[in-house]
Amino acid sequence: PYASIGLEVNVDYLTAVAVDLSGERLLSWRRAFPGATATPAQAVAAVAALTRRVVNRMTKDQRQVLGVAVAVPGLIGTDGTVRVAPNLGWHEVDLAGDLAKALRDPGFPIQVENDANLAVLAEHRFGPLGGTPNLVYLTGEVGVGAGVILDGRLRRGGQGFSGEIGHIQIDPQGPRCRCGRTGCLEAVAGIGVLVSTTDPAEVESEIDEVVRRAKAGDAATLDQLATVGRDLGRGIAIAANLLDPDAVILGGYYVPLAPWLLPAAADQARALSIAAGFGGCEIVASTLGYGAAALGGAARVLDSVDSGRLPSP
Ligand code: BGC
Ligand code: ZN
Repeated sequence: PYASIGLEVNVDYLTAVAVDLSGERLLSWRRAFPGATATPAQAVAAVAALTRRVVNRMTKDQRQVLGVAVAVPGLIGTDGTVRVAPNLGWHEVDLAGDLAKALRDPGFPIQVENDANLAVLAEHRFGPLGGTPNLVYLTGEVGVGAGVILDGRLRRGGQGFSGEIGHIQIDPQGPRCRCGRTGCLEAVAGIGVLVSTTDPAEVESEIDEVVRRAKAGDAATLDQLATVGRDLGRGIAIAANLLDPDAVILGGYYVPLAPWLLPAAADQARALSIAAGFGGCEIVASTLGYGAAALGGAARVLDSVDSGRLPSP
């Protein structure tokens, strides 16, 4: 039997997912990782160590690894190089090449892809809206990115950089973004607005704390969530006007916050999108969990097998 592996390196965690040929999950791991402060070399070492662990586990289960795809929160060139990952502080990192070196000729191909792109592939293949021809996935991380499937296909654009919705300016007077610009969507509606840290040990518990306060009806928290929700809605309206998706899926940390973010976001998106009166698009929270991008990586490897780019089993 075979295994296909997806990984994700992000601001505060590493995830790994392995699936078999039918897409059945064989394992799903997540661990804290200080992506915001680690150097690219440290990240490569951590991703390599995780890859080794997953591969060893698959080998022990007598599975042959078909390939690995790694999700990165940044702009990936058509040659697979990470051009920039603003919240990791990376510039021109050849993650696939460095990883292959660290793994010393691993015997399977390694691909690198944008996190949102992989997450939307996972939704399209495994999610409840699977097969929906026009999908936009919005990552709810410190960074905000869009994965775009139109007419059934992932759209990458000329340089592979499409979907950088997180860096569309929402508020010219807004806060500084990690990309160096001002008032970007992710600077006003990324989860960095709700948590005061990128410390991997603390992000999840701070999000839990926001949820706890919102459930308790804390007015300041509800107000803040409504504001973030409205800004998110502005971003969704831009995506809706530009792409006319059937659905927009909110992922990552937006999921636990969806009961409060979604109503405000949907109201704002409806108010600002010209097509909303003609049906508009559905806005839903992802059900794939924090491993969505990694799962999409595994799906990507399976797609490569399907299209004959890997030795078909
Ligand atoms: C990056 C995107 C990424 C998003 C979510 C943004 O800061 O520019 O490439 O998809 O964060 O991680
Ligand atoms: Zn920005």
